[in-house]
Amino acid sequence: MSEQANPFESLQEQIDDATEYMSVSGDVVERLKHPERVLETNLSVEMDDGDVEVFKAFRSEFNGDRGPYKGGIRYHPGVSRDEVKALSGWMVYKCAVVDIPYGGGKGGIIIDPDEYSESELERITRSFAKELRPFIGVDKDIPAPDVNTGQREMNWIKDTYETLENTTEPGVITGKSPDSGGSAGRVEATGRSTMLTAREAFDYLDRDIEGASVAVQGYGNAGWIAAKLIDELGANVVAVSDSSGAIHNEAGFDPVDVKSHKNETGSVAGYHGADEEFSNDDLLTLDVDLLVPAALENAIDGDLAKEVQADVIVEAANGPLTPDADDVLRDADTYVFPDILANAGGVTVSYFEWVQNRQRFHWTEEKVNEELERIITDAFDNLVETYEETDAPNMRTAAYVVAIQRVVDAYQESGNWP
Ligand code: GLU
Repeated sequence: MSEQANPFESLQEQIDDATEYMSVSGDVVERLKHPERVLETNLSVEMDDGDVEVFKAFRSEFNGDRGPYKGGIRYHPGVSRDEVKALSGWMVYKCAVVDIPYGGGKGGIIIDPDEYSESELERITRSFAKELRPFIGVDKDIPAPDVNTGQREMNWIKDTYETLENTTEPGVITGKSPDSGGSAGRVEATGRSTMLTAREAFDYLDRDIEGASVAVQGYGNAGWIAAKLIDELGANVVAVSDSSGAIHNEAGFDPVDVKSHKNETGSVAGYHGADEEFSNDDLLTLDVDLLVPAALENAIDGDLAKEVQADVIVEAANGPLTPDADDVLRDADTYVFPDILANAGGVTVSYFEWVQNRQRFHWTEEKVNEELERIITDAFDNLVETYEETDAPNMRTAAYVVAIQRVVDAYQESGNWP
């Protein structure tokens, strides 16, 4: 395996690629490539056995020209300062490409949450929330779930913030459970925008999604919901994977049944309906109509990209393809529909949650899904229009052209501050 790409350098390369097709001055391009500030902190937390453990944690606020910083918090051993910076930058351009009024941020703790009890995780989360308190706020910086975090952690952060501030302000964080102010449809939202992007992509390319073969890498919240909703369009999910490995069946799986197996056993491996089991790399190079990478960054690098056989890739994960992989796939005429559009459903429904929290009003799931579909399909149309009007070499660069222009316009309209 080749050396892992640094995600922050990948982000900067993606911005450079796009600004070649725009007229943006050098100083503004520099501004677009660096975070405004990064919090790095060390959390000292008492474990169940009375010992104290220290956890490194980050929050990057990348750009606030279009609104409050917005983005998730991940718990993963691979979290690093550069990873969080990259992810916060991707949030800026994600929010801009779907035109919701946010900047971008991202946070993370270097931790394998599987190794800690629930009460330890609660203390770790509340300790991070305490450190975040001066930075976050309903109009300042609004965290949300990401890899290995969900409603439970968001509820704890909301409660810590509200307790310390002596207020009720559910919109300080999104992705909460419904009883704590969460929105209907939020859990499914990332997978739903992946499905909508795949549907629109196949339509744009004049291909039938019905009967199309699909491989999904990663069976967490984004991957499994994408598999389920794409299956409901009539496509055939022939391979799925998680960190334990991949399963394959040419006749297709029932994604819901695979999910029940994963819930029971902890992994997709060993599923009774699988014809064969192989590695994640085997899945990523399978000859399918649609490939959905839904795990972590750098799943496909330049070397692996040479072996990719899928015709269309829709990215549910953040940053699953390195810039080298993009080059190889462009030369191979593989269409890649980028993360900043395809997984933007999560932050879009976070936006709806924030709006509902501020209005102290509740939307039905039907309304949430309807509004999400409108935002994603409008953004898709805008993207392909830009792709066709500019000489952008691929959909990713076209998406960045749309997004960067919006950020630059907001920045320039605000004028100069000494
Ligand atoms: N973590 C998700 C993302 O990467 C959601 C962020 C949010 O809802 O603010 O887009």
